[in-house]
Amino acid sequence: MEIKKGIAVSHGISIAKSLIIDSEDYRIPRRPIQPAQRMAETQRIKNAFTAAVRELTQLAEAQDDSTGGKIKDIFAVHLRFLRDKSLIKRITDLVRSELVTAEYAVSSILRDVASHFAKVRDAYISERADDINDIEKRLLKQLLGGKREDLANLTEEVVVVARELSPTQTAGFNREYVKGIASDTGGRTSHAAIVARSLGIPAVVALEDFTEYVRGGDTIIVDGNRGIVIVNPDQDTIAQYEEYSREFLELEHKFDALRDLPAATRDGIKITLLGNIEFPDEAEEVLERGGQGIGLYRTEFLYLNSQTEPTEAEHYEAYAETVSVFKDKPVIIRTMDLGADKFTQSKRFSREPNPFLGLRSIRFCLQNLSLFKTQLHAILRASVLGSVKIMFPLITNIHELKQARLIFRDVMEDLDDEKIPYNRDIEVGIMIETPSAALTAYHLANEVDFFSIGTNDLTQYTLAVDRGNELVSTLYSSADPAVLRLIRTVLQDAHKAQIKTSICGEMASEPEFIMLLLGMGVRTVSIAHPMIPEIKQIIRSVTIEDCNKVARRVLALNSEREISAYLRTAARKILPEAF
Ligand code: PEP
Ligand code: MG
Repeated sequence: MEIKKGIAVSHGISIAKSLIIDSEDYRIPRRPIQPAQRMAETQRIKNAFTAAVRELTQLAEAQDDSTGGKIKDIFAVHLRFLRDKSLIKRITDLVRSELVTAEYAVSSILRDVASHFAKVRDAYISERADDINDIEKRLLKQLLGGKREDLANLTEEVVVVARELSPTQTAGFNREYVKGIASDTGGRTSHAAIVARSLGIPAVVALEDFTEYVRGGDTIIVDGNRGIVIVNPDQDTIAQYEEYSREFLELEHKFDALRDLPAATRDGIKITLLGNIEFPDEAEEVLERGGQGIGLYRTEFLYLNSQTEPTEAEHYEAYAETVSVFKDKPVIIRTMDLGADKFTQSKRFSREPNPFLGLRSIRFCLQNLSLFKTQLHAILRASVLGSVKIMFPLITNIHELKQARLIFRDVMEDLDDEKIPYNRDIEVGIMIETPSAALTAYHLANEVDFFSIGTNDLTQYTLAVDRGNELVSTLYSSADPAVLRLIRTVLQDAHKAQIKTSICGEMASEPEFIMLLLGMGVRTVSIAHPMIPEIKQIIRSVTIEDCNKVARRVLALNSEREISAYLRTAARKILPEAF
């Protein structure tokens, strides 16, 4: 039995067999084999090469000539490497001479080749290192038996174990069978973690070298409440966790009773509780949990779970489906936040050196006008179906906002020409998720109808800490005084300009922050929908004066540590079950 501690990112407990997927940058531990296993291991290598060639050939054939030319060329390069007999020989020789597993031999030889290419000064040759990394991944997928296709065809419950999970992969999980997630890397607000939470799959990330301890088929307990993962637990531990799991489900059911009760403080201040979604089918869940609308629809997921770029009709259908659930209640559609860790189909192959500071979000849209206009057209068409609002992400200056608004007006004129009805008074808002936007909120407020503070990115960019990097996860905290000061500035400036502000980052979904936010003047939050009942329970248990006191105290403290400790204690008193 092995116990590892990581970061809890999605509540709940699961017990199932492990399925190792993906080998992204996966360092295969050096495990010895017996001399008698040599033949079998070398055969596994040959089979993996044959299967990888077959898989690639099929993928290449499936590419349409008009759009897939570049991709086909890449596949041709990969196929040449995979058919290279001397490469297979180097790998099988290593198994025979060093008595190591097939996975280890594949990984170590291909990494050797890749680092050799990477050192060559010629750009064409050094770029081949990426190809070799891809080939390694493909071969390891074969050897580890964790192909993504397998995930689509699961027939039994599993805990997915991976070194790293992308938002795209996580979005593709079938929650009927994927019961838990454990990954070596990641952070609490990384997009893969956000998706796990939306899907309601218990998850623990930042487990460091966890994948080195696990083999496919090991029994795994994922404790998404305490951030613990246990490999091959003994019977007593399993029994204890089955009990925890029952208690957790009972607590969830207890919260069900809150569904139709108002989200108001004990002294009668009404709070609007909205839900964050990535997929239209989550809208029902927001409603079921008592959400009063959608405060953040992350529309870029339309791109992530499809093999082709969505058409205008597909955008429209997704928005219409979401709006139909809420009718006259607000649905805030955020225009796509592509780039950084989420890519369109055609951009998957070109990487930026520093993508979170690169062509992301509104910047990407402003440079890809046809894609942007397609989305705006669909949002405007859907605007007559209910109370649709539009929101631009990652605004960093007023010029960007004006440009986005100008394009939005152009699209309105297109609809006029086409005689398509839309809501001319549709509310336009922006996300405040960069320090520059927070510091110029006073000016930005004159140009929009509302703000929504994206604390996930605001924290990342204020503290210069990558939100998905477990190596610096202890430095990532929205309780940092710098972040809180920026939030306060935005709230004050919005108040002066008489526009509404909500919080839609994960901070609002965390029980320890809600009193502080209310005390700072927040009256609308948009949260991960599984957390709606818990947050509502806290809201219903406090008075605004309690919250004001918390905010006054916190804003006088000067360190993240003190603030976090204070907030935890305060929230624990109100809702001990949440901790
Ligand atoms: C945020 O940054 O806080 C936010 C809500 O947007 P996302 O998590 O999608 O980046
Ligand atoms: Mg963001």
